[in-house]
Order: sequence, then C-alpha cells, then structure tokens
Amino acid sequence: MNKNKFYITTTLPYVNATPHIGHALEFIQADIIARYKRKKLGKENVFFNLGTDEHGSKIHQKSQEEGISTQEFVDKYSNQFKDFCKKFDIEYDFFYRTSADYHKKHVYKIWNHCLQKGDIYKKKYSAKYCVGCEEFKTEKDLINGKCPIHQKECITISEENYFFAISKYKEKMLEYLEKNPNILSPKSKINELKNFVKDIQDISISRRKEKMPWGIEVPNDNEQVIYVWFDALTNYIGTIDYASDKNNFEQWRPGIQIFGPDNLRFQGGIWQGMLAGADLDFSKKLLMHGYILDGKGQKMSKSLGNVVSPFEQLEKYGSEYIRFYLGAYLNTFGDGNYQEEELKDVINSRLADNFGNLLSRVVNLANKKGVKINDFEKIENEFKNKVDNIKKNTLNLMDNFELSSAFNEVHKLAILGNGYINDIAPWEKNKDQKQIQICLNNLSYLLSILIDLYEPVIPKFCYEAKKSLENIEKIVLFKKLD
Ligand SMILES: [Zn+2]
Repeated sequence: MNKNKFYITTTLPYVNATPHIGHALEFIQADIIARYKRKKLGKENVFFNLGTDEHGSKIHQKSQEEGISTQEFVDKYSNQFKDFCKKFDIEYDFFYRTSADYHKKHVYKIWNHCLQKGDIYKKKYSAKYCVGCEEFKTEKDLINGKCPIHQKECITISEENYFFAISKYKEKMLEYLEKNPNILSPKSKINELKNFVKDIQDISISRRKEKMPWGIEVPNDNEQVIYVWFDALTNYIGTIDYASDKNNFEQWRPGIQIFGPDNLRFQGGIWQGMLAGADLDFSKKLLMHGYILDGKGQKMSKSLGNVVSPFEQLEKYGSEYIRFYLGAYLNTFGDGNYQEEELKDVINSRLADNFGNLLSRVVNLANKKGVKINDFEKIENEFKNKVDNIKKNTLNLMDNFELSSAFNEVHKLAILGNGYINDIAPWEKNKDQKQIQICLNNLSYLLSILIDLYEPVIPKFCYEAKKSLENIEKIVLFKKLD
C-alpha cells in the first residue's frame, strides 16, 4: 500500500437473512475509521469496501422457498443491507456484490494463478452427507452418527472436488504471525489464530454443480462450481481491481480487514493462505471486534427472545446516538452488552451534559457578554498544552484503531472544559471583561478540537456544533433521553 493510501474492508454478510445489530457494529466501526482517515489523508486516499456475499446452495434453497428467482432473492437482501448502511450513515466507497458480473474475472484470475502454480488439484474424498440438509457433515456436527436436525443416519458420499493446497503456505503464515504479533487486534487472540494455522490442511474449494447450482463455474469444468468462500473472499482484492487495473490495485494493497470472532479463521487463516497462493502480501492488519450480547452477557437468539433489533433502535434513538454507543463507547475489541439504560446514560452524560452543555454555555455567554471567540492565535499556553495533549493521545489511539479508548480521551476534553468554566465562572457579576474574554476564547479552541475529534462518530451533530460555534449561534444539540 502506498504510504498515503488507506484501504479497509468489512466482511461481506451472507444474504440469507436481514441485517442484525452485529452488522451495525462492524459497519459503524469501519465507517468511523474510514472517516477518520479521510480527514487525515484526504478523501481520495481512502477506500472503504462493503457489500454482500450472494452465492451458495442455502441461498438457492431459500429463494425457492420464497418462490422467487435466486437473482431476485439476492437483489432483495442485498438492497436491505444497502438500505441499512444508508440508515446508519455508512459512507462506503464501493458496495461489492459477489453475484455481479464484475466479480467473476477476479475469481478466475486467482483460481488460474493458483492452478498454474500447482496449488489447485482434483481429489476424490469421502464424507458424511445429510440428505435433509443437503450438506456434508463432519463428525463434530453429528450426534451418534445422526444429523441432529433430521435425526437420520448420514450417508457416505464419495465425490471428486478441487482442493487448494493451503498447507503449502502454513510455514510462511506462521512465520509472519510470529514476526508481526501486532497484525491482530486484540493481541490476546493471536495464539488461537496460530493454532488454527498450525493445523491447517488442504481444503476443498468446489462442489458438484448439481448440488450447488448458484455459483461461479470452475474454469474449464462446467460440472463443478467454485465453493462459496473461495469465491466470496476474493472480493477483498476484486474491489480494488485485482484483475483489471494493476496500478490502482497496487496502490491500495495490502489492506485492513475488520470482522467478528466467528470470522477469525477465515480472515486470519484461509484468506491469508489464498493471498499467499496469489503471491500477494498478507493483510496489513486484522481487526476483530466482539459479539454484541444482550444486556445480561448472553448471546442473542430468536429462541431466547433477547434479540435487539437495530431497526427498532434506530426508530427510537436515531443513527448518531447508536453510532456513538456502539462505535465510541462499547469496548472496540471485546464482547459488548447492549443495554438501553447504558446507552441513555452515555448519551446523557457524554453528549448532553458535557459536550452539548459546554457548547451552549460558551456560545450563550459569548453572545451575552459580547466577547470575541474563535481567535486561536490568542489561546493561553498552559490551556492550549492541556488540550493539545489530549488531542495527541486521541490521535495515537485512533491510529491504532483503539476506538473506545480514543473517544474516552475525547470525553476528557469535555470534562476539562466544563471544569475550567466552573472554576472561572464567567457568568458571575463584576467579572473582569478581559478574563471572560480569555476564558471563552480558550474554550472555543477546546470545542473546535472536540468537534473535530467526534466528527467521525457523529458527523451530523458535529456539523451543527461547528456552525453554532463559528457563528456564535445558540443551539440545543442533544436532547436528553429518559
Ligand atoms: Zn440434516
């Protein structure tokens, strides 16, 4: 990657269900990072990829259940994700669809590259297969040899498929992980990834077409279809023109992958092995967020009835409060408990009582006392140093993708500002006009920094805040939640 270029991609959700709160978390985190980098590097130097994974037998099956064509089915669900992004103000640069025509050339290129190197070979293998599920099962999936869903013995099927010789790259991958322990955040998961890579074996990357009619055909073999993930993962390089524009491609590589815990093996193991097969550098950084749990630390599930609907939350709180809670407050790299009471507390204390309150105090007093603010040449040194230090800490944390820690720092700025204005008390009668002037001008500097740092999380609020500060216009920015 060109030093001034920044490329980040989320995982592509599989379009067999509607978006959930975990998608909101991943998209919001990626969007905050992308917005931050755009401010730092310039719009043209950031590329943010998002999209949908649209092939596979499950999707084919579901479309038949709904009685619509598979293309109609994937269009419908893909549009739901697009719409979801719009609602959460996710500003991606490209929305990638693996059923789109442009995707094929990238999949063919990586396939043919690996084939020519001898990394793809055909092999007969036998495995347990459940007719009801239309799926191969491993011993771990079965209970007493039976499919737990259908309560039936599995049959043994022998099938000839294509395999990818990922084990060839095991040593190279392990060496890379050894030398670059910081590639994965959180670091604590690096051993889990290493253990997975240590045990990695060649994997089947195709299926018989009759079993998986909805997919990309294997080049020169129309009886086989490329298996879903070998097809889907390729989007991460397809989106930056892997097969079509060498110059564009090279300036963005290698990129940053953001994903959840259930994707660690795919992103950190299999995808890296595919990159090695394609003779491309490994990813620059792997960012693994946690699960969003219900308020009690349990996984959300329909059967427990504890699923938080992102759509319902949006209706209630609007996009920016949820962006703030998920992206700036909840622990960036660990599991988070979605608690509405906590969301309200966080919005009230951080935004309404601190940020919003400080802004309105400064703007109102500047108006009332008729003093000049936003004169940044004249900020007191000691005050400026305090503000600049917090800013520096924040930027350091942002550059390490430590979002929740970074925005904790930003909150400290608001606390600093409110503490300072309380000490000086510029609203008191008989205050020296010069002292009022210095105090409010200092605070206008602090607020300008605060707004700038919060902007990637709550862009619309910050736009209003900036206008209010610059024009010294009264505004009630945040309504308190009860
Ligand atoms: Zn079954």
